[in-house]
Amino acid sequence: MLFSEKLNSNIPTISFEIFPPKNPAGWGALYSTLGNVSRRSPDFISVTYGAGGSTRRQTVELVARIQRELGIETVAHLTCLGHSAEEIAALLSELEASDVHGLMALRGDPPKDSSQFKPHPEGFAHASDLIEFASSRNSFTIGCACYPETHPEASSPEADIEYLKLKQDRGASFAVSQLFFDNGRFLKFRENAQKAGISIPIIAGIMPVISSSQIQRFQQLSATETPQKLIDFLGDGDDDTIAKRGIEYGYAQCAELIAEGAAGIHLYTLNKSASTIKITDRLVSAGLILR
Ligand code: FAD
Repeated sequence: MLFSEKLNSNIPTISFEIFPPKNPAGWGALYSTLGNVSRRSPDFISVTYGAGGSTRRQTVELVARIQRELGIETVAHLTCLGHSAEEIAALLSELEASDVHGLMALRGDPPKDSSQFKPHPEGFAHASDLIEFASSRNSFTIGCACYPETHPEASSPEADIEYLKLKQDRGASFAVSQLFFDNGRFLKFRENAQKAGISIPIIAGIMPVISSSQIQRFQQLSATETPQKLIDFLGDGDDDTIAKRGIEYGYAQCAELIAEGAAGIHLYTLNKSASTIKITDRLVSAGLILR
């Protein structure tokens, strides 16, 4: 079944996110991840789009190759950042020519030295504008981002949900959430989104913790809350110990979300598959994900 069909079938999907490596050393880890992931027959693999430079080109090439060589549906991330409408049109044509029809339409983050996103003068200011532009071609199943803990620039959680509704109205047919560690936040957000008229499937984005330094970075930088129950559960220990507990925590999150009717689970691999594969295998063994 095509993932676009499955999204509306009440069967939870499982998908993985990878990124194009920034240097040659990263390709080994990516190929190993892709091998492990593809043997689990995911509903799709999504490939992120960098803030600039050569990795942008690689997104388009990677999605096409994964689809052609591994026979797995792909979703190409694409951002408004730094592109004119004409450049976006050319990228969309390339994807169509490679038979890639999954698109994750995003705005992109402001550069590190700026707090404000500046759109290209001939481009798009918001993901909803990109969605409208791409959906007029009728060849893409378009996904968009959503934020259970509210996008950091949003004026309020309600406004953020209104703009998610706009993305739906302009042609997004599914949403993937920012990662979160507190299922209660996701479930409340989904309830509020549904009350606001959002009916597209909302896939939960999950990233298992793999080291204590990662969790420290999260506490300092991320807009995602690190709940005390996660910190207590991870406790102290070397990275192997933390990664094992991260798998336990991530599995429990996914199992509960599927029981609560989440449309799917999208696993952020960071191009390291060990934890995400263990979670997937357990979900399949428990009959929570059907393969
Ligand atoms: P938008 O939907 O445009 O929202 C941005 C902000 O503007 C929000 O605060 C929103 O409330 C507000 N807003 C939206 N529409 C309007 C409007 N019409 N008028 C006024 N305000 C509005 N980044 C990358 O660079 N590459 C990636 O591959 C990538 N993949 C991602 C995948 C997922 C699943 C997620 C959750 C995020 C991803 N990001 C990626 C990060 C994303 O680019 C940033 O979070 C960015 O800051 C917002 O993108 P958006 O698409 O949600 O933007």
